[in-house]
Amino acid sequence: MNDFPARAVVDLGAVRRNIRSLAAHAPTAQVMAVVKADAYGHGLVPSALAAVQGGATWLGTAQVGEALHLRRAGVTGVRVLAWLYAPGAPLREAVEADVDLSVAAPWALDEVAAGARAAGRTARVHLKVDTGLSRNGLVPGQLSGVLAAARALEAEGVVDVVGVWSHLAFADDPGHPTVRAQAAAFAQAVAAVERAGVCLEVRHLANAAATLTAPALHWDLVRPGISVYGLSPVPQVAGPESFGLVPAMTFEAELATVKPVPAGSGVSYGHQYVVPHDTVLGVVPVGYADGVPRHASGTQDRPGGPLQVGGRRLGVAGRVCMDQVVVDLGPGAREVPGDRVVLFGPGTHGEPTAQDWADAAGTISYEIVTRVGGRVPRSYV
Ligand code: PLP
Repeated sequence: MNDFPARAVVDLGAVRRNIRSLAAHAPTAQVMAVVKADAYGHGLVPSALAAVQGGATWLGTAQVGEALHLRRAGVTGVRVLAWLYAPGAPLREAVEADVDLSVAAPWALDEVAAGARAAGRTARVHLKVDTGLSRNGLVPGQLSGVLAAARALEAEGVVDVVGVWSHLAFADDPGHPTVRAQAAAFAQAVAAVERAGVCLEVRHLANAAATLTAPALHWDLVRPGISVYGLSPVPQVAGPESFGLVPAMTFEAELATVKPVPAGSGVSYGHQYVVPHDTVLGVVPVGYADGVPRHASGTQDRPGGPLQVGGRRLGVAGRVCMDQVVVDLGPGAREVPGDRVVLFGPGTHGEPTAQDWADAAGTISYEIVTRVGGRVPRSYV
């Protein structure tokens, strides 16, 4: 039995509906649900299955191991693309498991080819072009050489180039000139590959922000991640509800301790918060080891990350510790140990959202949900 007094409850119905909302924004494209990083903290296999039920025809992972995990868990009948690996990755296993592989560097094509030969099967390859993010991807000077090598391998039946793809640096700002420049560079790369005689199955560029706000960038396949889990990729512009999205994860805990303390008591390490009057403190048994950002600690003047306790919205008092945070429940508070505390949820019942925590910690919602710690049990509704 797991006695950890907190949990992340994931609403798989919300994941299914979010996929439908994303698909409605990209009616001419297929949807790849990006499920890397344990499905952004939501649980890889259950989230992937829900995304497929919602209509995703592709799944995207960063690591090859994540893609293999999906296959070994019986996630079949859906294409899976893995895009980030270093020399020595288990590419033979990936080809055997029917995983599509990205090629983002010349050495990667050699390793994919070796994996395909060892597997005795053709590897499906997506050429990743760097159109301006300067992260993973073939720079213009590398594309023609890799393309020529890939064509030769195609003739041998070792690889099949099925995709060309790239990733945007400013997708959350669709009017940014870099988006236009990357879109143009991508179109050029696609044209170069097609001129070389490759018959492409999918050309893909759009993450969640571009899926929801830039139809011209949809191409054949969109690759949303954060919005599969119901969070807005452009929170400063529009909340999830305006895109028909519902946050899927609720992070909740039980109060471990409730106790009265006198005015002037310093709370948590460094006494960043000193109670101004006699009050009641509650201890919530989750901390930065569980993903509660330490940057959302509270001070005398600024409440920390938001918590909902008994329908009230309160803030973390003092520093976030490794395993616990303290909340000032106020004089005469009636809470008792075991009462429910919601750190974040869909926001539909007044509870804070992951975006609220991101704002409190000066980060993005992606970091809030992906960091919910490994010891926090996930449960699914
Ligand atoms: N495509 C690639 C290559 C990514 O690395 C990511 C995530 O970072 C995504 C798509 C999904 O991005 P988002 O979560 O912003 O939709």
